Amino acid sequence: MTDRRAELADNLTRVRARLASAAATAGRDPAGITLIAVTKTYPATDVRLLAELGVTDIGENRDQEAAPKAAELRTDSAMPPLRWHFIGQLQRNKCRSVAGYADVVQSVDRVSLARALGTAAGRLRDRPLAVLIQVSLDGATGRGGALPSSADPEHGFWPVVEAVLAESGLRLDGVMAVAPSEQPAGPAFARLAQVSAQLTAQVSGACAISAGMSGDLAEAIANGATQVRIGSALLGNRPRLR
Ligand SMILES: *Cc1c(COP(=O)(O)O)cnc(C)c1O
Repeated sequence: MTDRRAELADNLTRVRARLASAAATAGRDPAGITLIAVTKTYPATDVRLLAELGVTDIGENRDQEAAPKAAELRTDSAMPPLRWHFIGQLQRNKCRSVAGYADVVQSVDRVSLARALGTAAGRLRDRPLAVLIQVSLDGATGRGGALPSSADPEHGFWPVVEAVLAESGLRLDGVMAVAPSEQPAGPAFARLAQVSAQLTAQVSGACAISAGMSGDLAEAIANGATQVRIGSALLGNRPRLR
């Protein structure tokens, strides 16, 4: 075992224990919560080690970094199939690239992006691209996210839902959010759970809730998260840039 492999295995054991304990506290089955390893800033070799340790859901937030990593690992026949989750703010001109390797785009937060991604996915793929709608929990769109209580034709949550449903190249799976930086995570994730309930009342299959990062996974699981996105607790602290 390499040192890095042992380090990742250790971290994974700790994260799985935190996840199991949060699920137990919430009275939930941990099998209903998918662990996504957020490998941004870390090399493809780490993705490979994580896959060997059984983590095959991989999150990335920048196309420039994700595209070559996904391409490198795809050519490796020894790799188990990975599921790539694109979780970063996405510009329309990157949709073609992302639709080529992502299994899920979690950061759809405006009407124009839903249309561009739907067009790209329809041309490039034989199956629809799964998407989550990113929800803003602080009422602003600066860090990404559609606005649940707004009818704004570009950034309102329901206009974005309609835009995704209108694209045959996309399949709406649920919602995603990042906790606001200056507020407690629990109440914010409770608001996300409400948005999710309103969505599933309209679109019954769209029941995924992607919430929770290294610092707030317990609050997310207490509020119904079906996927958590864990970076630093698994891979180590990233250098402070971007
Ligand atoms: C980086 C990132 C994560 C992981 O954050 P950690 O605090 O390192 O666990 C999760 N979600 C998004 C959208 C991210 O950009």
